[in-house]
Amino acid sequence: MAKITRKPAPRKAAMPKKKAKAAVAKPKAPVRTSQKAAKPWTPAEVHEAFSRFRTANPEPKGELEHVNPFTLLVAVVLSAQATDAGVNKATRALFAVADTPQKMLDLGEERVRDYIKTIGLYRTKAKNVIALSAKLLSEFGGEVPRTRAEIESLPGAGRKTANVVLNMAFGEHTMAVDTHVFRVGNRTALAPGKTPLEVELGLEKIIPAEFMLHAHHWLILHGRYTCLARKPRCDVCLITDLCRWPEKTV
Ligand code: SF4
Repeated sequence: MAKITRKPAPRKAAMPKKKAKAAVAKPKAPVRTSQKAAKPWTPAEVHEAFSRFRTANPEPKGELEHVNPFTLLVAVVLSAQATDAGVNKATRALFAVADTPQKMLDLGEERVRDYIKTIGLYRTKAKNVIALSAKLLSEFGGEVPRTRAEIESLPGAGRKTANVVLNMAFGEHTMAVDTHVFRVGNRTALAPGKTPLEVELGLEKIIPAEFMLHAHHWLILHGRYTCLARKPRCDVCLITDLCRWPEKTV
């Protein structure tokens, strides 16, 4: 009997392991926002940074125009995803005719909408301004309440709104984290965090009480005019020597 010789089955071309991995490897995320690994600030360094902010600007002011706690509350609600300058442009005329919840209610949603139509999301915001005015009248005697839970219960108001109002209207030591404070907290590694709440709690933990009344404004102004999002002005920054940002431009 003739001997059957089997041809060996052709081997599958094995992909070199390293190459296979490389083919699916994701690009490395740039190390831009996480400063978790940075050396934490010492209490003396934090004190030094805020002393410098205080010396440079002893009485920092917010840039949202308002004439009382109610108009501050409305301005903050309108400022979501809008610039302070854009909000001020619209509210100057609005607050001239409606600076109390009752006057706002009397003005009505349609006219409020007309005043604020240059601001993003103005339809929803007009609805919220009317609804919060009605709630202030029906549940809080027409006054802006003084507790976080009560402010957060108002239509259109969240944690950041409550923090701004509690700080600016009632002098409480709260830390509102907007896009600027979030960036500065992370870049400097003063309070690294993935969410605004993490940064808020981190800042509250390390900033001494003597600076807390103005800390929110110092950090906002620092982010808005010095520690700019795209191109931080490290050459004129007051805290260059303390900041942990590895990509400092000086
Ligand atoms: S040194 Fe540069 S990155 Fe650091 S806080 Fe100042 S401006 Fe921002």
